Amino acid sequence: MKVVNLSRPRIAYFSMEIALEDGIPTYSGGLGVLAGDMMRSAADLGVPLIGVTLASRQGYFRQAIRDGRQTEEPEPWDPAGHAQRLPAKVLVHIAGREVWVGAWQYDVQTSCLQFPPVPVLLLDTDLPENAPEDRRLTDHLYGGDEAYRLEQEIVLGIGGLRMLNALGTHIQKYHLNEGHSALLTLELLRELGAGFGRAGLPEAMAAVRRRCVFTTHTPVEAGHDQFPHAMVEQALAGVVDPLVLHTVCPDVRFNLTRLALTLSGWVNGVADRHAQTSRSLFPGYDVHAITNGVHARSWTAPALQSVFDRRIPQWCHEPELLVRALRIPDEEVTAAHARAKQDLLHSLAGLAGAERLDAQRFTIGFARRMTDYKRPGLLFTDLDRLRAIARRAPFQVIVSGKAHPRDLAGKQHIEALQAWARELAGSVPVVFVPDYRLEVARRVVAGVDLWLNTPQPPLEASGTSGMKAALNGVPSLSVLDGWWVEGCEEGVTGWAIGEDGEHDAHRHAESLYDKLERVILPVFAADHGAWAAIMKATIARNGSYFHSHRMIRRYVSEAYWN
Ligand SMILES: *Cc1c(COP(=O)(O)O)cnc(C)c1O
Repeated sequence: MKVVNLSRPRIAYFSMEIALEDGIPTYSGGLGVLAGDMMRSAADLGVPLIGVTLASRQGYFRQAIRDGRQTEEPEPWDPAGHAQRLPAKVLVHIAGREVWVGAWQYDVQTSCLQFPPVPVLLLDTDLPENAPEDRRLTDHLYGGDEAYRLEQEIVLGIGGLRMLNALGTHIQKYHLNEGHSALLTLELLRELGAGFGRAGLPEAMAAVRRRCVFTTHTPVEAGHDQFPHAMVEQALAGVVDPLVLHTVCPDVRFNLTRLALTLSGWVNGVADRHAQTSRSLFPGYDVHAITNGVHARSWTAPALQSVFDRRIPQWCHEPELLVRALRIPDEEVTAAHARAKQDLLHSLAGLAGAERLDAQRFTIGFARRMTDYKRPGLLFTDLDRLRAIARRAPFQVIVSGKAHPRDLAGKQHIEALQAWARELAGSVPVVFVPDYRLEVARRVVAGVDLWLNTPQPPLEASGTSGMKAALNGVPSLSVLDGWWVEGCEEGVTGWAIGEDGEHDAHRHAESLYDKLERVILPVFAADHGAWAAIMKATIARNGSYFHSHRMIRRYVSEAYWN
């Protein structure tokens, strides 16, 4: 086993959430899964990254459904069972309090064992020297109030940077995955002697810019982390001069995205369309586009992995080789998919409505964060029309997703889905899978026949679950937003809902029903060869491109290496 040498020059990748493995609940959704896939691809390709995140000892939350409603429980985990406690401790001042920050090292192993693992630091304030409330600062991912969030962001940005220094790392670039870690730029300014007063500030800002890379993930103003200036001044009293805070962020509220934009020399959005949207949201910044990707091996079902291993050796190291998927005999792809579908249906046994699922029936999957803009109800706009479609060509639906505990609209979507499932029970089986997480996502994206995505454009920055489906030969039916603007080839890799630029929900629902009824279900029912061709084209054209090996190679050559 190769060992990690922390003093080797590295890129530090800061993220509030990183999905490391099953059983470590340090992520809430797409952002964390992306960060985890970034680590896994870095390990496979020997890219010297070091991840920095919070230990989130109580996880995000565990979702159960009771009486049709979401309930939330903490999901405690023990870092000692998965990671090494590091001896280093660093001190940060938060609102005048002394808070000690410790760290655990988790090593992301490569699947080929050619390169040393990629270390990830899990910052932890649960130390005996801290006051009881400070010991809980790294407990709840996205939990607590605004002040708790800000304090977590101080631990991540400022504590994280100090920890890297205490460990003797040599960091060439700091990559801010979303604005949550942007306070690290203030600590870099301070290190350069510009924490207080204006003297030398412009030069120090230029020097910080040369070292920071920022990836924005949020296409709406309201989605960006922001705090009252007074709150930030108080939290950072004695650490950063208010004058500096106002210079680096002159907005009415202290906006972490603005801070990251101002102090990063290289900025990107996570899909072409998202970069465009971000340019109009933040005029004056040069926003590049690096479209997201997913870790190919991790997201491909075991049965299909064996087919690829046999037919396309080296696909793990070079997922681009999946362009050769068209050469795989149809039966091998369809048999592997049938196995994945069986696995999925088996895993659902015991859930409400699962007894009505049928492995032969066309299966639509929809799983994602339950929140307004994802419009989980679009498919259920017209239940009579759904029933009529199902009378001619039967289908079933599998849905899953968590709503943030304070997202009341998101929780109502979950209730509505349960109600529709009951109403449709006799005609369209709908099963809600509780507690959406890596394990659930892996089975659902691989085991359904069609991946549905219905975001309200332009709010889907990228979306990645459709990319996971594509690796498994599962085509998408999706609104043209995020990655799908790039990935959709009508009738080849899937289908578009509505026209590009169309925003009307009613028209989207019509288009969804029309395509399902007139195009998709007829091909599936009548023509095995044509459906197998769609599956293979989905792998060859989308699976071969929307993977995180490509993504990280682009970060290396465009963002890290200059
Ligand atoms: C991939 C994934 C997501 C993100 O999916 P989107 O398509 O971006 O909404 C969220 N949660 C889990 C558990 C995932 O695996």
